[in-house]
Amino acid sequence: MSKIIDTHTHIYDEQFQEDFDDVMKNIKEQMEGIVSIGFDMESSLKSIELANKYDFVHAVIGIHPVDIKKYNAEVDKELERLALSEKKVVAIGEIGLDYHWMEDPEEVQKEGFRRQIELAERVKLPIVIHTREALQDTLDILKEYPCVGGILHCYPGSFQAAKPFLDRYYIGVGGTVTFKNNRKTKELVKELPLDRIVLETDCPYLTPVPFRGKRNNPVYTSYVAEEIARIKEISTEEVIEVTTENAKKIYKL
Ligand SMILES: [Zn+2]
Repeated sequence: MSKIIDTHTHIYDEQFQEDFDDVMKNIKEQMEGIVSIGFDMESSLKSIELANKYDFVHAVIGIHPVDIKKYNAEVDKELERLALSEKKVVAIGEIGLDYHWMEDPEEVQKEGFRRQIELAERVKLPIVIHTREALQDTLDILKEYPCVGGILHCYPGSFQAAKPFLDRYYIGVGGTVTFKNNRKTKELVKELPLDRIVLETDCPYLTPVPFRGKRNNPVYTSYVAEEIARIKEISTEEVIEVTTENAKKIYKL
């Protein structure tokens, strides 16, 4: 029987410090693997370090839109060097646009997003996208790079808006699909073909029901798989089997 891959974690977060060994032990026993996603250089390096230490961990490196002021030519060069030399780096991310926090002007965010997509193109890796209150601009930029694919993490849009991108992008579905009033995500999951969905936690954030409000944990992806199965009226086993296959494909695991 297939086991789950959590395609989006921040497992290096200080919220995991206290019981880190236990958390990793449970992941190793219960899951196929997890992907540790960086949001700046420090967390990207931490992700690589964990990936090199644990065989079931893989690393994604990049500068998050909220931290985009940390991005410059030197950082870009270092990310490229790491992407080419570190075998367990499987994508560039999380990158994108965040107009909610608006730490930097739209144009600065767009520039950092484009430069990092071009970096991914050069090193031939997929991208992991963060988009918040900036969906149209995000999709417009993705259109400029028809040869790049990846994962739209925590995708907030409709199926119709995602449709033109589904030939090369997967949609990351996480804990929010279990929230009772989240009709939008439930509707999206209903319409999305299963072969375009990957599971994610974004842990320690976005914890699914029944643990909503507590620290999220990669093993809780099982609740996400169960909810997707319920919505699509298929078995949880099928959800896990196909989404794990999808994760392996996009990250080339
Ligand atoms: Zn994230």
